Amino acid sequence: MPDVFADLVGQDEAVAELRRAAAAAAAVLRAGVADRAPALVAADPASGDESALAAGDAAPGAVDPSTGMTHAWIFTGPPGSGRSVAARAFAAALQCRHGTGCGECPGCHTTMGGTHADVRMVVPEGLSIGVGEMRALVLRAASTPSGGRWQVVIIEDADRLTEAAGNALLKAIEEPPPRTVFLLCAPSTHPDDISVTIRSRCRVVPLRQPPAAAVAEVLVRRDGIAPDVAQWAAAAAQGHVGRARRLARDPEARKRREAVLAVPRRLTGVGAAFDAASALIEAAEAEAAASVTEADTAERAALETALGAGGTGRGAAGAMRGAAGQLKELEKRQKSRATRAQRDALDRALVDLAGFYRDALTMALRAPVAPVHTDTAALAGAGAQKWDAEGALRRLEAVLACRAAIEANVKPRIAVEAMMLALWKG
Ligand SMILES: [Zn+2]
Repeated sequence: MPDVFADLVGQDEAVAELRRAAAAAAAVLRAGVADRAPALVAADPASGDESALAAGDAAPGAVDPSTGMTHAWIFTGPPGSGRSVAARAFAAALQCRHGTGCGECPGCHTTMGGTHADVRMVVPEGLSIGVGEMRALVLRAASTPSGGRWQVVIIEDADRLTEAAGNALLKAIEEPPPRTVFLLCAPSTHPDDISVTIRSRCRVVPLRQPPAAAVAEVLVRRDGIAPDVAQWAAAAAQGHVGRARRLARDPEARKRREAVLAVPRRLTGVGAAFDAASALIEAAEAEAAASVTEADTAERAALETALGAGGTGRGAAGAMRGAAGQLKELEKRQKSRATRAQRDALDRALVDLAGFYRDALTMALRAPVAPVHTDTAALAGAGAQKWDAEGALRRLEAVLACRAAIEANVKPRIAVEAMMLALWKG
């Protein structure tokens, strides 16, 4: 039976560290029991078993709760490396009856299924996590764990915390309640992603970009995808496990990728460059819309039902006035989620495009590495001949500069148009 760490692809070192930490955390819980044991023994001198059991558990190497347990962690790594997968698996191991993340006990099951009462997962839907949300979370995190083990708070995309929310979190991390554990996920520990003060109070678990072979292996084993498709998708996704799975399974995702990789040969002039920019932006918008529409509609229907929309009785008008405010709030949240989904979709397209120019560069340099995109390798080879290494590198840099500009809040259309012109001119 695979345990909770089985889905962490190609992260042997991180998994080993997390296993050790989970064992140490379990020992802290046992030590907590041992602390109370002498009182138990004193109250009932006839029962000597308690202290013997406690002593046996504490050895070897007496557990020091101050060093054996860490209350705040940061999981870092490139997108798709499995930051949130790692955080959730570690949370399961903390809640595991055996302290190992066995994958079979109720603690493991409910944590992995997202229903454990003492594990809260914050997934920011907008571009940032607000201070109100964070304060409420910190407050709840301080309560005693109902399952008797740990209160675990997982914050995905912790780099999207607002400054005020970061400060609220910092206060909790500085003086953590004894049974509370914060698990933060962020691309890196760069001060742009995580404030230096939060960073200084967390233990960092770096995840690496998993090798394509490891990604292909998990697609075959867990998702039952044919080995040749899995290998192609793993290479094309450049180490992003979720993206590899989508490419292997979803024909629409493959079509969008093909359209992106057709960009280099469409760049025949200034007009074509602007057309290509529009096409890329619109494709990202369409992809984002497809991913959020369903959730939006369901949310709105749920809220309307909760508010009793359509009621005609006395007081219905007053209720609807309050409801209008709540609907507005929901629309605001949905709009910011859509913006984020668009950025994410555009970024994926840019990563694909960067892969193409990287292929051209490695071919121009005759570097003995496998191409990212096997299906456009011939086109990249033609580019390598025409542009030489320097020209390929300039184009790769133009794509990376576009990503950086969008990250720095330059309007996507402006950044993409500038990139397309640079790609055309070389
Ligand atoms: Zn378990």
